[in-house]
Amino acid sequence: KKILFSGMQATGTLTLGNYLGALKNWVTLSDEYECFYSVVDLHSITVRQDPAELRKRARNLLTLYIAAGLDPKKNCIYYQSHVSGHAELSWILNCFTYMGELSRMTQFKDKASKHADNINAGLFTYPVLMAADILLYQADVVPVGKDQLQHLEITRDIAQRFNSVYGDVFTVPEPYIGKAGAKIMSLQDPEKKMSKSDENPNASIYLMDDPDTIIRKFKRAVTDSEGAVRYLEEQPGIKNLIDIYCSCTGKTPEETETEFDGKGYGDFKLAVGESVVGVLKPVQDRFAELIQDKSYIDGVIKENADKAGYYATKTLRKVQKKVGFPERI
Ligand code: ATP
Ligand code: MG
Repeated sequence: KKILFSGMQATGTLTLGNYLGALKNWVTLSDEYECFYSVVDLHSITVRQDPAELRKRARNLLTLYIAAGLDPKKNCIYYQSHVSGHAELSWILNCFTYMGELSRMTQFKDKASKHADNINAGLFTYPVLMAADILLYQADVVPVGKDQLQHLEITRDIAQRFNSVYGDVFTVPEPYIGKAGAKIMSLQDPEKKMSKSDENPNASIYLMDDPDTIIRKFKRAVTDSEGAVRYLEEQPGIKNLIDIYCSCTGKTPEETETEFDGKGYGDFKLAVGESVVGVLKPVQDRFAELIQDKSYIDGVIKENADKAGYYATKTLRKVQKKVGFPERI
């Protein structure tokens, strides 16, 4: 089986963007690949976190992976911080990454402007840690939203650079971008991606939002004055709602245009809201059950950290030897 790696940060609460752009695809891909799905908590501290809050969010996120349909017997679901190889490989890869290429990363520029009081080196070298995450497991594919493509590109560059010096050490990974939901935009500003770190709660649908809240947020979604449900670049708000609707129902944009031909935005927004409730409700119910089951989740955490650690150490030892570190006796 080919290997797949992906992860999410335990910052904020997951949004519909994270679900449709990433998590939902993870479930689909889990039959076909040997999967590693990490809660990437090392990445979270590039921005200041409240420790108790971070711990709680990380556990919620890990539980949510399972609630979304990932079987922890078949998929390796673990905390990044439980496998020290991520940080160790990251250091080595730092020495194979240029300042110049890191300064071109748009996420760094975005986050640096948002957190101007704390532009730390971790924020800058974030893509190197992400490269380490992926290369550590020799992943063939990485399912991500379109917003992460630039980081995957740099991962490939680093892998190729390393391989060109030391021979075939790393598998060079390919991105996997799902069709629908590749990039879900903010409900309040359709030019911006929906993001769990957005301060405006009306901009995002959170995975744990109750049905009334979901419907209300869609009613308030920013659209335009065209008054027609059409899939056009000039109508980014409606286009985004169509993307969401299609992703939740499996319909195509053309079918959606036909379905709402002659109908107003009110009807359409309600239908979008209902389709989202239909998708999220089962996940929420399952989450509510799982989060109660402390010993089950603890078992998953322990078992999978050991499994991830085994694969990580294999790659790490190989890399350490290649760069010239002395062998362990
Ligand atoms: P943050 O603002 O903290 O960076 P985020 O919402 O961007 O939060 P990440 O943890 O960075 O979330 O990303 C988790 C996964 O969700 C990644 O695979 C990413 O590509 C995907 N993703 C994030 N936002 C969207 C979006 N708006 N549409 C589709 N996929 C998305
Ligand atoms: Mg992000």
